[in-house]
Amino acid sequence: MQSFDNATFDVILVGAGIMSATLATLLKELQPSLRICVVERLRGYGLESSDAWNNAGTGHSAFCELNYTPTGADGTIDVKKALKIANNFEISKELWAFLVERGSLSSAADFIRRVPHMSFVWDNNCEYLRDRFAAMLQHPQFSDMVFSNDPATLMQWMPLVMRGRDPQQAVAATRMECGTDVNFGALTRALFHRLERLRGMHFHMEHDITDLERVTDAHGHTAWHLIARDLRDQNTDGEPDGHEVNLTAPFVFIGAGGGALPLLDKAKVVEADGYGGFPISGQWLVCNNPRVIAEHHGKVYGKASVGAPPMSVPHLDTRIIDGEKRLLFGPFAGFSTKFLKNGSYFDLPASVEWDNMFPMLSAGWNNLELTRYLVAQVTLSHEDRIEALREYLPEARAEDWELAIAGQRVQVIKRGRDVGGVLEFGTEVISTKDGSLAALLGASPGASTSVAIMLEVLQRCFPEEMASSEWQTRLAAMMPSYVQPVGADVARCKAARARTSQILGLA
Ligand SMILES: Cc1cc2nc3c(=O)[nH]c(=O)nc-3n(C[C@H](O)[C@H](O)[C@H](O)COP(=O)(O)OP(=O)(O)OC[C@H]3O[C@@H](n4cnc5c(N)ncnc54)[C@H](O)[C@@H]3O)c2cc1C
Repeated sequence: MQSFDNATFDVILVGAGIMSATLATLLKELQPSLRICVVERLRGYGLESSDAWNNAGTGHSAFCELNYTPTGADGTIDVKKALKIANNFEISKELWAFLVERGSLSSAADFIRRVPHMSFVWDNNCEYLRDRFAAMLQHPQFSDMVFSNDPATLMQWMPLVMRGRDPQQAVAATRMECGTDVNFGALTRALFHRLERLRGMHFHMEHDITDLERVTDAHGHTAWHLIARDLRDQNTDGEPDGHEVNLTAPFVFIGAGGGALPLLDKAKVVEADGYGGFPISGQWLVCNNPRVIAEHHGKVYGKASVGAPPMSVPHLDTRIIDGEKRLLFGPFAGFSTKFLKNGSYFDLPASVEWDNMFPMLSAGWNNLELTRYLVAQVTLSHEDRIEALREYLPEARAEDWELAIAGQRVQVIKRGRDVGGVLEFGTEVISTKDGSLAALLGASPGASTSVAIMLEVLQRCFPEEMASSEWQTRLAAMMPSYVQPVGADVARCKAARARTSQILGLA
């Protein structure tokens, strides 16, 4: 076996989830000569949050997620965030279509399928949905959206959701036919399996990055020295014997998901000072009745309860996992002090430091609604969860549904200007001033916009290369809408979507 001890690379990627897979793919396309090392503590690729069973698999394009279109102070619907997410998801699809068309990814159906995206509300929220629909229709990204408050139409769109419902209840829904379900685990593995075949790619599986420090190389340039503990070498008690590997590179990306925060702390990155993390785990109800699974087709997102974090918006979800149609409802929030599903119960306590203690405490104090919501969620019984499901599926039977544990999300807590600590639900790219290290915190909208997020990392850490004509030409070939945003251009927007849909088999 090739020894990597004391090896030097151009780039080290910590973690083998969708983010590192995307960054490695982009870097190898832009500069094929790069020597890239991927270090992953688990045995395979994409087994944490990126795995299909650990996330909802929604290709987030803001078609159905009501939390992306808040009502502004003036009462109008704010679509800015929705537009950004829709455009970013199109950029993701452009990269995937580029790889499929060239034969670098063998089958799009293994990781992306067309599944209609619907929003469904009742009573007072019907008016909000109509206003949202009217606001979104102004933009070509959403011009295919249809709205209905006619129970007969809704019965066709989502029979199980309508059956057994009080006929007096006011209901409304929107539908986007071109929504998608994405198996991000399958995509991560497909990207890495292809990268494995490229020259200059190195993989250290079952290695845990335990430390990293900034060093200066022989030419006076900044580099990062990483220590990877080999988890495969075991002593007679079956414990890792602590064999360590030393790795060095001038650029490091910490794509460690929930494991990013402790590594940023070890790296003593001042740009991450004051950041804390709060883990929220997810749980699904998974349907085990083939008849029920067959009768529903679509991702139906509702409105979140008061205090619920945005990623806990309830949804009834058709998924295609490993070629099999599935039906999930959730996520319900759970609480664990682990930062990764395969992490340690000491993750949260170990992350509290002097510089983030006040932001973390005040974030708790400033989010009492959320705290109340989480406490209520953690104490739910199976029957309580079925009751929540019956708001969407009135005839749901408890015996048709089982509980499954989803992935962990570590919500970012950062120092607020006036209020001590602010809980953030988005994704936060942290990078050092000299661009030698970048990391990703937070998890929403997550994997769907992984390409745009990794392009932001490149923009921050490789600004000269990104501006060069060589990289610009390659970027334009891969993701035309990134280099020349479609904006409000109806014809370009429709043409770009039609093209990727055709290549990815979504038409
Ligand atoms: C319940 C839930 C639902 C979600 N739903 C959606 C959705 O519908 N659509 C969507 O787009 N996104 C969704 N997301 C978000 C999405 O899953 C994440 O944004 C995405 O998977 C993050 O990818 P990643 O590569 O950053 O992290 P991960 O996939 O978690 O990968 C991180 C990797 O780093 C490794 N690692 C950690 N520490 C170390 C270390 N010290 N050394 C070596 N390796 C290390 C881990 O083992 C892991 O393999 C959801 C997330 C959750 C939890």
